[in-house]
Amino acid sequence: MKHPGEERLMAHVETLDPEVAEHVRFCGPCARIVTEFRELALALTDSTAWPQQSSGSLPFDPNAEFEDESSAEVLLENLKDAPVAAWRERFPRRSGSARTLLRHAHSLLEADPQRAQAIADLALVLITDIPDEQERHYLRGWAHRERANALRYLGQLPEALQALDRAAEFFGKLPTGDFDLGTLLYIRATVLREQGHFPEARNAAQQAERIFAEFGDTVRQTHARLALANIANNEGDLETARAEYVRLLASPAIGDDELLLTRVRHNLGCTLHEMHDPEGAREHLTQAMRTYSKLGLETEVARMRWNLARVTMMDGPSSTAQLELEEAIDQLTAHGMRSDAALARLDIAELLLGDDDADAARTHCVAAIDDLLAAGMNVRAATAMALLRDAAATDQITVAVVRHTRSMIEQLHR
Ligand SMILES: [Zn+2]
Repeated sequence: MKHPGEERLMAHVETLDPEVAEHVRFCGPCARIVTEFRELALALTDSTAWPQQSSGSLPFDPNAEFEDESSAEVLLENLKDAPVAAWRERFPRRSGSARTLLRHAHSLLEADPQRAQAIADLALVLITDIPDEQERHYLRGWAHRERANALRYLGQLPEALQALDRAAEFFGKLPTGDFDLGTLLYIRATVLREQGHFPEARNAAQQAERIFAEFGDTVRQTHARLALANIANNEGDLETARAEYVRLLASPAIGDDELLLTRVRHNLGCTLHEMHDPEGAREHLTQAMRTYSKLGLETEVARMRWNLARVTMMDGPSSTAQLELEEAIDQLTAHGMRSDAALARLDIAELLLGDDDADAARTHCVAAIDDLLAAGMNVRAATAMALLRDAAATDQITVAVVRHTRSMIEQLHR
């Protein structure tokens, strides 16, 4: 057997490969690489091996051009005291290590985006030592893409766009970079949507969809189409969004992906709700809730319960809607979703005001203020709270006040 190559050696560390094991017994260089990779794999599962907090910024200027390796050396020289310098000493400077770090960073995006960012930063430093130029470009593009993903999860949207620009520079240098540029456009679309730049978001999502279609990647193409439908929904074009969700539900590409299918159903249910179709909304939200529950996604189950209660507000008796909202609030609170719980309390306040029970409405508004406090403050939340508090103190709680507060809080989620 020839030397197995870093990817296969790394795979062997994760799952024993008898052929590789046999080779490594008699090959010193490969045995050394396997030992390095074992140490790396061990460090990845040991949280004490990582800095306690990420500063949120790179330990070096991400816009610095270190094509020239001697300037990279100068850069790293300046980092002697930074924890990253110690990491660099500790970890093997191989393309296999960088790939492992980046895969690991990707897997942490939802659970711990700060750590995902720190790991992508470390990969960027290790990449400076990889001799092959094409491989360096590819890995740098990938590392900046993971940084962009992490920054998006952390809500640092302008920084995420900058990281995407950096990634595009590196993928753009590769003859085979088109597909990766498509993945960047997809992420760009989601960031622009979160910023409320809908036309630009649609443009990016359309380009991404075309690229995925060219490469025959029907799964990513479906994600891009879902993003397009969500953008239409954000723009208030409910009919386009509804039609696209329905088309997606029927598309064969989505058949195997239960979670994606459920997200589409969830969004379709919310759109039908906005279109004043309680029957249709209830059907899809109930199905989505069942699947989320089966998949163990309890926060989504709580959110579905709340959505269903809001549908009852539209077509059911006020007392039933109120009971359902209270159940939803219990679940949202149990899962730490306090700003959602605050919104659900405002829903109850609105119902109570409709029943001319201003005292009970005030009680719920005060509880909503507590929820917002627990959720953590920012300027908008503080303004919304002040509005509610003044209204409660002066007996001026009206449906208009409640709705205005609700729309302010909802903007916090965008
Ligand atoms: Zn070997």
